[in-house]
Amino acid sequence: MPDLIKIIVDGIDHQVDPSKQLVDELNRVGVNTPTFCYHPDLQVAGNCRICLVETKGPRGFALGISCHMRPTPGMEVRTPATSETVQLARKGVMEFLLVNHPLDCPICDKAGECTLQEHYMGSGKHHSRLHDEVGKQYKGGSDHRFIDTKGEDRGGKNIDLGETVVLDQERCILCDRCVRFMRDVAGDEQLHIAGRGDQAYLTTFPGMPLQHEYDLNVTDICPVGALTGKHFRFQQRVWLLKRVESIAPDDSLGANITIEYNNNHIWRLMPRRNPDVNKSWIHNDTRLLYQKLDENRLVEGTITGQPAALGAALEAAGKALSAGKRIAVVASGHLTNEDNAAVLALSEAFGSRVEVFGGSWLMVGKADGIARSGDPVANRKGQQLLGVPDNLDSLPTRAREFDVLITVGHDLWAANADKAKALEVIPVRIALASWQDSTVAKATIAVGIRAWAEVRGTMVNCQGRVQVMNACPVVANGDLEPAWQVLARLASYAGKPIPWSSELDAWKACVERVPAFAGLSYRSIGPMGAMITSEQPVGAA
Ligand code: SF4
Repeated sequence: MPDLIKIIVDGIDHQVDPSKQLVDELNRVGVNTPTFCYHPDLQVAGNCRICLVETKGPRGFALGISCHMRPTPGMEVRTPATSETVQLARKGVMEFLLVNHPLDCPICDKAGECTLQEHYMGSGKHHSRLHDEVGKQYKGGSDHRFIDTKGEDRGGKNIDLGETVVLDQERCILCDRCVRFMRDVAGDEQLHIAGRGDQAYLTTFPGMPLQHEYDLNVTDICPVGALTGKHFRFQQRVWLLKRVESIAPDDSLGANITIEYNNNHIWRLMPRRNPDVNKSWIHNDTRLLYQKLDENRLVEGTITGQPAALGAALEAAGKALSAGKRIAVVASGHLTNEDNAAVLALSEAFGSRVEVFGGSWLMVGKADGIARSGDPVANRKGQQLLGVPDNLDSLPTRAREFDVLITVGHDLWAANADKAKALEVIPVRIALASWQDSTVAKATIAVGIRAWAEVRGTMVNCQGRVQVMNACPVVANGDLEPAWQVLARLASYAGKPIPWSSELDAWKACVERVPAFAGLSYRSIGPMGAMITSEQPVGAA
């Protein structure tokens, strides 16, 4: 905890962090302070002025923007609660922002999470002084089209900015957040505010699209409905969406996300702010992962390539395991710690007949410095901590030693078909899988399991941070079970059932195996994750 200092807000003492912006500290101590252009993960611009407060200087109280100030010891601050000047100033800002802003909230995708709506209620509530005969002056005029002096089409409604984002120019309040995101975070200045005064408008560079692997983040930070993502535009009213907190499963940084659903369908994934992990950003590919959750799912099972009920496939897998002489079990860094603990428990149940393999054949790239480490194996570190060996490369050359192969949430044939081909000499190949993937196509028995969004469990990111994924109630088939539960059932075919009744029992097994997890519970890990202090797994040299 940093050293706090005292400031006085509206006559009340508060302890605040002097290294933070005043606006953040005001909000933290419960003094609600609106923002449009300010964003905690962008550089301060100070162009919207809605966060105005009065602070006391040598010449008495004066207006200043709280996003641009840092608290100082003894600072005296006045907000609208005690200052009519601040009330009037913020009201004036709102009036200017709204004078030409369209009243199309009923058809605007941002309605329900638009800060212009929110702050009108908090700081505006002015009576319109707009004369009916004048009307609103949209950039682009009544037909919403705006041709600049060089003949370029720059304004108006429903402008296709690129592959992913649409601009409704007349809603833009010129806060400049999207420009700063592209320039300072994405590192590719593709957006720009051109023109002056009431003719200023947001644009890409002439003839160039908005095209970047993080560009959908501009739709989150746009405080109004000017920038919207094509994938979500007109899909749902946001106030209908319910949310669960989870972790991106496609990269070992484990970007924090929310899964947002309604009517038994997942409609979007959104970044969840975690200053120590992904800040407020997620990669476009992560954001669109929800689209794959109901595509090509393995919702039942297969036996020798033919469809089979889940129970029948599970029974066939159990019998094949109990008849196996040498069983290779391939754990997965794409699954939770709980699932991998179940892999280890299953191998112990079957005893010396089983050998566990771990690791991945997927290529590891470079960290992009935004929200990805470049390692697509999200829980690689969790696997290491549990003591799963990194020996997958030895499996193809030793394939003939085994008569049963069981892969758990790991598509070996997609990761490297050449290496995986050698595994086809193993006569019984069991796949526990969420999708009808390449490994299921090669399996003699396949059993469907829940996908990442449908399970509760933990992963350890590349920083050594344990993070919790929560289960979204939207599932491809209600009879599907998480991998740990299917593995627990399979262990009973060895005569040694795994007595876990929920993922909490599976987590307890993880804690018993990994000293670094000692004392951690889902509750204590919390929504921001918990850094582990020691990385020495049980049994490690
Ligand atoms: S499009 Fe949105 S984020 Fe960009 S400047 Fe306009 S209001 Fe701000």
